[in-house]
Amino acid sequence: MYPAGAEFGFELLVCRWVEESWPPNGSRSGAVVVARQLGTADRRWDTVVLECDPAGLAARAAFGSEELDSDLLHVVRNAPAEWAWYRDALPDPGYPWRYVRAAVHRAADRGIVETRREGNRILLRRVAPYPEWLRRIVAIENKPDLDAAAARALSDQLRHDVDAGLADEVWVATATTGNRVEPALLEDLPVDVGILAFEIDAGGDDPTAAAVDASVEWYPSEVTPPEGGRDPERRDRRLELAERAYGRGWRSYHDTMRPDCRSFELRQFGRALVPHCAAKGRSQTAAECAGSCAEFEPEPPAWRTRGWPIEGGPGAGIKTLLRRRREWVRSRELDAEFDPDT
Ligand code: SF4
Repeated sequence: MYPAGAEFGFELLVCRWVEESWPPNGSRSGAVVVARQLGTADRRWDTVVLECDPAGLAARAAFGSEELDSDLLHVVRNAPAEWAWYRDALPDPGYPWRYVRAAVHRAADRGIVETRREGNRILLRRVAPYPEWLRRIVAIENKPDLDAAAARALSDQLRHDVDAGLADEVWVATATTGNRVEPALLEDLPVDVGILAFEIDAGGDDPTAAAVDASVEWYPSEVTPPEGGRDPERRDRRLELAERAYGRGWRSYHDTMRPDCRSFELRQFGRALVPHCAAKGRSQTAAECAGSCAEFEPEPPAWRTRGWPIEGGPGAGIKTLLRRRREWVRSRELDAEFDPDT
């Protein structure tokens, strides 16, 4: 069985596998960024894979490790190489300039543009050109227990994903128990959607020996709209999504769970680190690990003075560890020749 409940645990294992092994049945030709639970107002994807240009991704680092929202993107993408009044330099945003001015100040505070005053005018200059770093967006819907009813229920959502054309490719990830996915199930899914079958060996009594592998049951079609590359609105929406994925990664579950609970632990499952609850004696789901959990107990203040090397005790240490992993994977991706076993 997977850790952390079927849906959430499966999702974490899919994200980890993608991070190491994307693309399925092919060799990696660029850099990959993985995130989870991202999307638009009307559709949230379980796993989002960004296929990136390595040089562009390296250049993106000049703008910090946090995501840039749409207002900041408007500023950094249009900031000039030479000093100019921000209203001359930036395109008319279609909303009041005072919001742009606030975004210019925020960008300057983050060090992603330079500003100076000339009389009562604010001039700005870029610190670097904002790079073309995103090549493709791949959306994956995780459905470990894909039966006929689930396939039918999913098909409308997937059809929407294909028609919306925000992603370039759409997959369903499901689990097998060594058998192939039932071919009849595939008939209920849109033909453009790829099927990835995950085989998970839980490692018996030793979860550290767990193994996760995936095979392609059906290859997807490219669903990029024919005019997709030239549609500025689509390009903006994709970049905003990519920025959120870049900033959050897939380990950001610590933002919604309670690593500050004394029972919160991270344990190894194969090559993944997954949450574990000492009070429950098992992996907990994201939904149950919340302030409303009846067994929640804040880590004792004494833990924070008992030699924990990182400010804030083990809860903060767990967050730091997960952030560091994200940073490490990100920097590893800049080397297109990386070996996932190193
Ligand atoms: S006791 Fe509840 S809040 Fe604490 S780690 Fe376990 S599930 Fe999370």
